Amino acid sequence: MSHVTSSMSPLRNLTIRSFSEGLRSREFSALEVAQACFKEIKSRNKELGAFLSLNEEEAIRRAEEVDLALAEGKPLSPLAGIPLAIKDIILIQGQPATGGSKILEKYVASYDATAIKKLKGQGALFVGKTNLDEFAMGGSNENSGFYPARNPWDPTRVPGGSSGGSAVAVAAGMALGALGSDTGGSIRQPAAMCGVVGLKPTYGAVSRHGIMPMAASLNQIGPLAKTAEDTALLFDTIRGRDPYDANSTDESTEVTEFRPEYLKKLTIGLPKEYFVGDGLDETVEAQTLEAIDRLKTLGFSFKEVSLPHTKYALACYYIVMPAEVSADTARYDGIRYSDRRQATGDRTTLSDIYFRTRGHGFGPEVKRRIILGTFVLSSGYYDAYYTKAQKVRALVRQDFIEAFKEVDVILAPVSPVLPFKIGERVDDPLSMYLADIFTVSINLAGLPGLSMPVRNLSERRYSPENLPVGFQLIGKPFRETDILGIGRLYEKEGG
Ligand code: GLN
Repeated sequence: MSHVTSSMSPLRNLTIRSFSEGLRSREFSALEVAQACFKEIKSRNKELGAFLSLNEEEAIRRAEEVDLALAEGKPLSPLAGIPLAIKDIILIQGQPATGGSKILEKYVASYDATAIKKLKGQGALFVGKTNLDEFAMGGSNENSGFYPARNPWDPTRVPGGSSGGSAVAVAAGMALGALGSDTGGSIRQPAAMCGVVGLKPTYGAVSRHGIMPMAASLNQIGPLAKTAEDTALLFDTIRGRDPYDANSTDESTEVTEFRPEYLKKLTIGLPKEYFVGDGLDETVEAQTLEAIDRLKTLGFSFKEVSLPHTKYALACYYIVMPAEVSADTARYDGIRYSDRRQATGDRTTLSDIYFRTRGHGFGPEVKRRIILGTFVLSSGYYDAYYTKAQKVRALVRQDFIEAFKEVDVILAPVSPVLPFKIGERVDDPLSMYLADIFTVSINLAGLPGLSMPVRNLSERRYSPENLPVGFQLIGKPFRETDILGIGRLYEKEGG
């Protein structure tokens, strides 16, 4: 069991692909690997805060079923026995689903999200539910209603967010892959900060049935893994039309086929607005240029493109998103889902119940966004803010349509900064919002975005000097195959 004996987590360098091969060659059993995950989680979750709840009994049982099926010579899917970590905003029947919020502390999901159902159908197992910023609002995991997750490269630093727990679980060898969700960067940014791969699919490529909505017009479920190859495998399983999500479609093409000759003919665009101005950390800039150089060596040609409305994207996102948040969180009212806070005193009105339940259950960032969202939707301000933001959103989308007439894929940074110290920015929401500059436009435009680690970190020791940096590949709608393909080439030949 060579993968399962190194000094750090035995699973740190084990990919989904190598698991699948090792399982079939009887190098190890699914049970052994599942047990190794739980061993790692139990020894490090106190420190890293990656998981909010574990699902050990069921995961072990499913691993044993896979081993039995293999022993009986039954055909196995490539995902059979793969231990996955699931962001706690996605429902698994019978498991807690808090959304990272105190308001849902005792909620247990009554059905499986479609993505979960599809993964279960392929024999994957779920080790537990991962930590996140409350209802996915944040970029550091510090807004979790429970405890912050920490970066395995330096636990005094944030892992990014909001899918921070999922990124930590993969980076620290607690699971071989994960699901997260991305409304404005929440898969790509923590993937970049933890040194793993993360895909935000095209809007509509993956069913949103069974995810708690944060901002329904921006949100997508997507995979995180150690390699683009593994990420493609997970995406291929969860994509596709679902009758429970009217926005979902079958348009994304099959992504597991790898065609280097085709890929190398693609032209990569560099948006000039993304590489000027301050705010881009020197190390992030240098490593992004390093990735570009390596892709050039692999034979890719590059071209400068312009996304002229970039400067309005953040303002647009921070109007559209809270507007949707204010509507999407209205369901947590103390009547359904959540624990009710009874009003005290002789008069108990419905609004007392709402007021007390929501006042107690939501954290400050969620309240801030509900207030902002209610304001931009209020009569007298609706046109000035919300309608205007929708018009700007159309312009941001148009920028990409124009750029994609000249190039096939666009390359950009992910996070403008390195993982920062826990606590450093908690009193400065604006600096947190500004750090979403390279990710939100992709959600506004509904495009697929892939975060790739610039350097192959799998052989390196975790240390503060080795803080990971990611770069982003943005594709045309439903062309996940292009960005995942370039990611695979990069990790195979360049990374
Ligand atoms: N950091 C962004 C925000 O706070 C991203 C959130 C997300 O993608 N869920 O809104």
